[in-house]
Amino acid sequence: MFKNNNHYLILKSYSIMLEELLHDLNDSSNDFEITVVSTNNSSLPKDKINKISSKLDVNITEITENKYSKNALKSFKKQDFSGIILPIHPEKTEKYFPLIRLIKKEFIPPLFTYNNLDGYQKITRWNYFKLFTKYLIESLELERFTPFRKLYYFGLKHKCPVCHSKLRKFNPHGTKKLPRPNAKCPVCNSMDRQRLLWLYLKNFTDFFNKNLKLLHFAAPEKIYNLLKSHEKIDYYPVDFKKRRSDLQLDIQKIPLEDNCFDYIWCSHVLEHVKDDQKALRELYRVLKPGGTAIILIPINAEKTEEFIHLNTPKQRLEKTGHHDHYRNYGFDFKKRLVDSGFKVQDLKAKDVFSSEELEKIQCDESEIIYFCSK
Ligand SMILES: [Zn+2]
Repeated sequence: MFKNNNHYLILKSYSIMLEELLHDLNDSSNDFEITVVSTNNSSLPKDKINKISSKLDVNITEITENKYSKNALKSFKKQDFSGIILPIHPEKTEKYFPLIRLIKKEFIPPLFTYNNLDGYQKITRWNYFKLFTKYLIESLELERFTPFRKLYYFGLKHKCPVCHSKLRKFNPHGTKKLPRPNAKCPVCNSMDRQRLLWLYLKNFTDFFNKNLKLLHFAAPEKIYNLLKSHEKIDYYPVDFKKRRSDLQLDIQKIPLEDNCFDYIWCSHVLEHVKDDQKALRELYRVLKPGGTAIILIPINAEKTEEFIHLNTPKQRLEKTGHHDHYRNYGFDFKKRLVDSGFKVQDLKAKDVFSSEELEKIQCDESEIIYFCSK
């Protein structure tokens, strides 16, 4: 797809994408030139660029911009590049399509996109049409259409404890390799495990009734809004997406003092972290004595299998079902928590809720919530 002796512009690159591109080019790349535009807080690790550049005959230049505005795009000359590559999240077309449209209109074809399911794709007319259709459909998921979705999905079979919608069904989620039926609430997008945890905190703890300081990693939108506006919760959301975070930090090296939080909420984050045991020691350190860290992970093996050594997203996808998971966790995960210093209570969904209740919120009975106290 990409030709030698050509110069490509990559907008919004992240390092795994570059790794995969160069992995694909491994045998044939000579005189290949790449310019990467990053925003201020998303620049590529220098050591990684140097390593890749020295291994292959590729020249990588990084330009830092404040944002990908029309003007920033116009500052490049048409003839400078043989193509633009733009990474898109396969489930977030609504965010990227306006940028694709802008590039098509203002800049140069050919345009390539990258996503972790399909890899690199050239944007042909047909792809553009497909993206546009997806964009239209996904736009309907925006907050302002909530009342319509509530009405459209109304039913008495299920109930979402997060947005209180009565539903006839939940929507599927997951990847092609690991599909998860009934995972996502069609009204508020909360996932099965989030609904479980929300209901548990509401019914069995004083989480929502006392003043507390909460460190929350990767909050989904609806839950972020609810916690952010909660008058008793002093909320510290952390996310790589700026609009849902006040802090941007590395969980393996938290730049905060010891003993500062009453609660930590860390659900389905550690499988994305290279050194999860270092992260757990950090969570323990910043938690107040007597505080609680609520930790959830996907369990999909008997015993934890590590894949940190794998180099490309494709290889990780093959082993874990996700391009950005570094391991498959097993039931021995509890030992990692204990080794980090926590006193651990592992709660299985089926031990806390009846099968009717779990059916109502559509959560698997084997899901485990780890309550970790210090
Ligand atoms: Zn909901």
